[in-house]
Amino acid sequence: MTLNWEEGYVKQIDCQEAERRLHTFLDRELDKEEMAEVQAHLDDCRECHSKFRFEASFKRLIMARSSEQRAPTGLRERLAERLRQQRGERRSRDDK
Ligand SMILES: [Zn+2]
Repeated sequence: MTLNWEEGYVKQIDCQEAERRLHTFLDRELDKEEMAEVQAHLDDCRECHSKFRFEASFKRLIMARSSEQRAPTGLRERLAERLRQQRGERRSRDDK
């Protein structure tokens, strides 16, 4: 039996299938149809919905953290430079 009475019919997928697509879904690498199938399952399934939400926030956290790590590199260098200058000043004062 085929359900073709509805335009844009979305195939039902089970939890296992949804979980298998979890990461590709979050990376938005699924095609439109697959995305819709996962989204439809998430609308129906509380368990997968919370799992996907957890993974999504976890991913955001990692991405935020990795971009944070990139930024302070220059800051750390500037601090190290300032520290060197302070030490240099102190040393030259001691020499007098
Ligand atoms: Zn599910």
